[in-house]
Amino acid sequence: FRMAVVDDKKEVKEYFNNEGFNRWSKIYSESDDVNAVQKFIRSGHQQTIDKVLAWIQEDGSAANGQTFCDAGCGVGSLAIPLAQMGAKVRASDISEAMANEGAARAANMDLKGSVTFETADLESLNGSYDTVTCIDVLIHYPTEKMDSMVGHLCDIASKRFIISFAPFTPFYAALKFVGSLAPGPSKATRAYLHVESDVVAALEKRGFKVKRSEMTATNFYFSRLLEAVKE
Ligand code: SAM
Repeated sequence: FRMAVVDDKKEVKEYFNNEGFNRWSKIYSESDDVNAVQKFIRSGHQQTIDKVLAWIQEDGSAANGQTFCDAGCGVGSLAIPLAQMGAKVRASDISEAMANEGAARAANMDLKGSVTFETADLESLNGSYDTVTCIDVLIHYPTEKMDSMVGHLCDIASKRFIISFAPFTPFYAALKFVGSLAPGPSKATRAYLHVESDVVAALEKRGFKVKRSEMTATNFYFSRLLEAVKE
């Protein structure tokens, strides 16, 4: 017998094209049609986005017209404000529904820079960008796939890689376990926490060094944010 292998990517893509799209496009918006838990997630996520934008504002890289690749861009929560600041952004997501929603949101905006949205698995991205960003996507990657995912994104980042992920700590692992016991149908795909030192090691292996770091935690959202620069 062979063990059934779960295809995380196929499931993630399917989820974010259907019920995941409905759930997350609302969380990542100003809609009132969200519950209390979703409000905590919305505000935590917005704090992560604001921290990235503050870093980029501080060093003026978007205003200089530098190139950005936002991998796993969702509905453009980061890519659109970056383009508003003057950056040239290539945004992509494995979910066509999410990428299309991003394009629709960007369409009527006044942008100093530019943004394009496309449907693509981040592993298929190529080219070279001053900065690669990948926000809250690693949650969909099993532990053994983290290193190659980080490695691939390092390969297309010429100066800097900004990545966030839910950190593995005994406390968060316990929370996740309790969450998995909650009754009712599962509303989400599997979620993977990552050991911070393992992510840092994956970055260092490719010649990237962590320069700035932030942690954001609300009741139902926690995310470690790292800015790694090429040495
Ligand atoms: N980065 C966005 C943000 O912060 O607003 C979206 C975060 S959302 C939690 C995770 C996103 O990652 C989803 O839109 C999902 O479709 C995308 N995703 C998951 N696996 C991916 C992959 N292998 N390639 C590209 N996108 C992926």
